[in-house]
Amino acid sequence: MKYGRTYNFSAGPATMPEPVLEEIRDEMMNYRGSGMCVMEMSHRSKVFQQIIDEAEADLRELMNIPDNYKVLFIQGGATLQFAMIPMNLMKNGKAVYIETGAWSKKAIAEAKKYGEVIVAASSKDKNYSYIPDCSDLDIPEDTDYVYICENETIHGVTWPKLPNTKGHVLVSDQSSMFLSKPCNVSDYGMIYGGVQKNIGPAGLAIVIIREDLIREDLDPKTPIYMMYKTHADAGSMYNTPNCWAIYVCGKVFKYLKNLGGLGEMEKINIEKAKVFYDFLDQSRMFVGTVRKEDRSLMNIPFVTESKELDAEVIAYTKAAGFENLKGHKSVGGLRASIYHAMPKEGVEALVECLKKFEAEHK
Ligand SMILES: *Cc1c(COP(=O)(O)O)cnc(C)c1O
Repeated sequence: MKYGRTYNFSAGPATMPEPVLEEIRDEMMNYRGSGMCVMEMSHRSKVFQQIIDEAEADLRELMNIPDNYKVLFIQGGATLQFAMIPMNLMKNGKAVYIETGAWSKKAIAEAKKYGEVIVAASSKDKNYSYIPDCSDLDIPEDTDYVYICENETIHGVTWPKLPNTKGHVLVSDQSSMFLSKPCNVSDYGMIYGGVQKNIGPAGLAIVIIREDLIREDLDPKTPIYMMYKTHADAGSMYNTPNCWAIYVCGKVFKYLKNLGGLGEMEKINIEKAKVFYDFLDQSRMFVGTVRKEDRSLMNIPFVTESKELDAEVIAYTKAAGFENLKGHKSVGGLRASIYHAMPKEGVEALVECLKKFEAEHK
């Protein structure tokens, strides 16, 4: 590893592609002859306008986003969206949520402040270790939208196929799987994600929303910042945006385009995750916590037979140069997050390390 860097399996903020970090380093003191760093620049400058325009254009190209969808760069991370979604999209005051883990649970709690929330399916009974069958849900006619978290970062489950919304608008939190595979945007009314998992620095959410869902007739007390219309009308620059995060995300979009786009990313991600899951499936010490069909390609929680042994493994891997493998407290054990920027060699090296531990502790 260059620069004395470690293999960082953090769930977020997470490891970044090294070529992107190097480019940023090279542009730090003087961005392309502008005489300043991007973080010193007016967001109203021509130079920054070009940065944000290119970021949006590259994202549109990567995801093949139809023209009737807006791309918005909004601060407050994914968490602010938990409130913005019901504030903006609840017209009849009713929404269906699917509870599949910690992040959908948080979204549900927030949405309940704004209207009626129907939890039409949940996997709480088995500590969110699977995706419930959502092929024939009971969805009231006047439901404003159906909400899912498409990849649960903490519990490590992902939707193998989207729910049958019976014609209702689908809203998806893609934070931890953003750009990890091709995505048919028109299947959704809105897709959003905090970028610090799979793309860039923390503090920015990207919202991709169908234009007809952007409303004006909201509760008059709705903060202006929390209306999608504000951001759509102002090209994400009603106020000072998170310029730095937008700049870095733009670089990652170009990096993904150069790698061959999302089809190629999916192949890489499947291959990379397979290295780890194949290891888990043959191990006598480590067990994955998620039902096989619903395993995430990005976040892999796993456990040993005891908390004490888990702790030993974490200390062992840390000493060997692998960081941030401690599982979230709600699942326990360990978790390896293997986003875009984690090279396959990193996963292979971790597997070797775990195999060695297992052999030494038979
Ligand atoms: C991390 C995460 C969030 C919260 O993101 P913030 O930017 O910290 O608000 C929401 N949803 C999912 C799926 C996440 O992984």
